[in-house]
Amino acid sequence: MALHLTYRRYALPFRAPVRTAHGIWAERTGLIVKLEGAAGRVGYGEVAPIPWFGTETVEESEAALKILGEWMTPEQIAAVPAKLGCLRFALAGACAGLDEGVGAKSERPDYLPVAALLPVGRAALTQIAPKAELGFRTFKWKVGVGDIADELSLLDDVIAELPMGAKLRLDANGAWDRRQAARWLERAAERPVEFVEQPIAHDARGADDALRGLAGDFPTPIALDESLVGARDVERWLAADWPGIFVIKPSLLGEPAPVMARLATAKADVVFSSALETVVGAKSALQLAFAWKGKRRALGFGVWPLFADNVFDGPFPAPFIRPEDVSRLNPEAAWTALS
Ligand code: MG
Repeated sequence: MALHLTYRRYALPFRAPVRTAHGIWAERTGLIVKLEGAAGRVGYGEVAPIPWFGTETVEESEAALKILGEWMTPEQIAAVPAKLGCLRFALAGACAGLDEGVGAKSERPDYLPVAALLPVGRAALTQIAPKAELGFRTFKWKVGVGDIADELSLLDDVIAELPMGAKLRLDANGAWDRRQAARWLERAAERPVEFVEQPIAHDARGADDALRGLAGDFPTPIALDESLVGARDVERWLAADWPGIFVIKPSLLGEPAPVMARLATAKADVVFSSALETVVGAKSALQLAFAWKGKRRALGFGVWPLFADNVFDGPFPAPFIRPEDVSRLNPEAAWTALS
């Protein structure tokens, strides 16, 4: 049967500009799609691209939606090209919303832990104790922002602030060359560093080989983030027997079901992470995280409040997210706010 599709484009200023490897990001743009099916059922999905990760642009997704038109069949949805991964994710999310509450709930954990985000540089030091007090046990510190020697010398101070048994994630967002990455990985060994994320830029020459080399040379796991966009990259790294962690930003993944099934079959070590999407994409993404049956690492979803208008925010950072917290997220409110 045909589904009725409408969409709204958004441009939402962040509460505070986000610093990225590609400069300052002040405003999130994307699309919210709404599908209406039989018996008044409604599902929402979000197109939240990050073009410098190698996704499509909002314009490309919007052009494809215009071609699809107002009425579509599930077959037409399935035929959306793989290169429009964010659109495929949005349509899959909206279709899942149509079926929400239909059929048995699969087995899922009672809660998932969330990683606390620390500010860059020395400011991290004063943030750890209050977050530990709240119950956070995984902390993420962005590195590769300041001078490498300064940051390296801060590492032990940051670690000294961690509560007993806590772990530190380091995310370099591709800021280092291989030699600098090796210095960090050497320092991370035998310290409570859970993993080092994207030490080398995904588009640096020979990046894949360098990442594989580093993974073989040091005991601290390496997590792929920017190197992992969409099903094709997942396939490539699975085929290469990547021994480290797969940071999965569901919003960039394309149609998630087959990719998640591939990762599960390969027993991949996965971290679910936000693409700084709104509550609409967050709901779809967190549902995937709760459906994952492999090893459960802290979620990279401690990003909200993110938007100037908090109707668009996902769940505020707490040390744990429960399935009820995800069910309660309200995509319809975000949709209505865009009218
Ligand atoms: Mg990252």
